[in-house]
Amino acid sequence: MTIQVLRELGPLRRQVGAIRAEGKRLGVVLTMGALHEGHLSLAREAATENDEVLVTVFVNPTQFGPGEDFSRYPRDLDQDAALADSAGATLLFAPSAASMYPEGEETRVVLSQVSRGLCGDFRPGHFEGVATVVSKFFNVIGEGIYYLGQKDYQQWRLIEQLARDLLFPVKIVGLPTVRDHDGLAMSSRNQFLSPEERQLALRVPLALQAALDLYRLGQRRTRDVEGKMQEVLGGAPVQIQYAELRHAQTLAPLPDTFSGSVVAAIAVLIGKTRLIDNLVLSVDAVDPIPSAIGGAE
Ligand code: AMP
Repeated sequence: MTIQVLRELGPLRRQVGAIRAEGKRLGVVLTMGALHEGHLSLAREAATENDEVLVTVFVNPTQFGPGEDFSRYPRDLDQDAALADSAGATLLFAPSAASMYPEGEETRVVLSQVSRGLCGDFRPGHFEGVATVVSKFFNVIGEGIYYLGQKDYQQWRLIEQLARDLLFPVKIVGLPTVRDHDGLAMSSRNQFLSPEERQLALRVPLALQAALDLYRLGQRRTRDVEGKMQEVLGGAPVQIQYAELRHAQTLAPLPDTFSGSVVAAIAVLIGKTRLIDNLVLSVDAVDPIPSAIGGAE
């Protein structure tokens, strides 16, 4: 294993400084760890386009609300280092909460429009925590290409907006959602699901696929597409937080009848586990959910 694991801000700053001094390109993947194929696809892409790839692992306390799964969020740094290494990452940065949030800190970064609705409604303070910690990473790491997953669609839009608004010297690249063989979007939280719950979770990609099917048949009535998603998600034990269509760029709510491409976004609770997923609906949609339909292999 050749990856270098750093735990402190000072060595990290020195290391990225040296990379820059040598004129090398730096790719960055920000994560909360418990790495899976979704994260690794970002690291692999970063490795093809850059000389050095930095993966961060930080379970950011400020983006979790009271009663959420901060304390039980999976953590395994050794395994993360091995996986990141195998995907071509050269540096892993796993800071302590105390170094990211120094004693007495009181600064938060707040975005207005893009953090409203969808997850913003169900996780008060979540996007403030995300914007704050990402701003800190942008400051510490600096210039580079940052690879984000479209799986966290609202977060991706928010970070793009943040980078633009605060003039961070970063380029943001959003990459497609990686799914399991049966269509379920990969997530560190999938490991919380019992076999029965995992089966129920397949309703999420099926609902998105149903929305895409309707869209392709020419359906452009917002409520009808949203109703279809809710129907496929079914009722208990799948608790729907939202199943909505939004403007794909701005995330603004849609009029009764929409045109152009939109994003279908879903959040559900299955037992204690919260899952999110989304699919961009457009005439040339290229994010298929291959085997969710018909129960897969
Ligand atoms: P997380 O560790 O869940 O905070 O995710 C870190 C990064 O990996 C974010 O940019 C996510 O959008 C991305 N990511 C997580 N799951 C997936 C997935 N299934 N496919 C692609 N990217 C993902």
